[in-house]
Amino acid sequence: MGLMCIFGKHIWSGCKCSTCGKIRDEGHVWRGCKCSICSTTRDEGHDWSKDCESCIRCKAPRKDAHKWYGCKCSACRKTRDEGHKWVGCKCSTCGKTRNEGHDWRKDCELCSCCGASRKDAHQWEGCKCSTCGKTRTGAHKWDGSICSVCGKSRDDEKVDVIIARLGELDTLLGGMLLIMDLARHGEGEALRPQAKAFKEEYMSIRTILANIGSDEAKAALKKHGLSLQYMETSRIKL
Ligand SMILES: [Zn+2]
Ligand SMILES: [Zn+2]
Ligand SMILES: [Zn+2]
Ligand SMILES: [Zn+2]
Ligand SMILES: [Zn+2]
Ligand SMILES: [Zn+2]
Ligand SMILES: [Zn+2]
Ligand SMILES: [Zn+2]
Repeated sequence: MGLMCIFGKHIWSGCKCSTCGKIRDEGHVWRGCKCSICSTTRDEGHDWSKDCESCIRCKAPRKDAHKWYGCKCSACRKTRDEGHKWVGCKCSTCGKTRNEGHDWRKDCELCSCCGASRKDAHQWEGCKCSTCGKTRTGAHKWDGSICSVCGKSRDDEKVDVIIARLGELDTLLGGMLLIMDLARHGEGEALRPQAKAFKEEYMSIRTILANIGSDEAKAALKKHGLSLQYMETSRIKL
């Protein structure tokens, strides 16, 4: 501390003594509600731009200040969980979704609006859903190399089978890894039969995939934009 400061003769630079750092309640350099030197706050100059009811600089509260337009404040853009403008399952103002009003027209099991899913909703008539028009593998009516119901070619069917099997392999691998993990912690004994079943199914799917034919399958996958890397990460050898 400087000698002058001991005798109370500080050298003020705004609200702060430039020698000893003492703060006084005058000479603040206000940036809105806050002094940029000592961070003291005052009840004016608040910044409500990000939230009408809480100052972004000093967190000062304010009541009933939002200008609600449905679920959204037209001043600060904050949202609330009331006054939504539902278009089907989605609020057209804030984008929140709800579990009603889904759009199943394009796919009975996947909402085209919010991505919600449900099970066993297709009305299968052979290979084709009579409601949404989706097709499934394994139920085509072959007329030469084209299905007479959905128009799918045998080549495309092969790819669909591969993709479906890859999905099953992913699930099986996930199950096996989980059981191995449990076993490591001494909880796996009861799950041993299930692990064995997983493994058997896994091997049988691998056999099916291996028999589809290497070049053919690779070409088909390439045509459908699936990389061979995906096949490799799924630990499948074609
Ligand atoms: Zn001083
Ligand atoms: Zn100050
Ligand atoms: Zn403030
Ligand atoms: Zn607001
Ligand atoms: Zn909304
Ligand atoms: Zn939806
Ligand atoms: Zn359907
Ligand atoms: Zn078909």
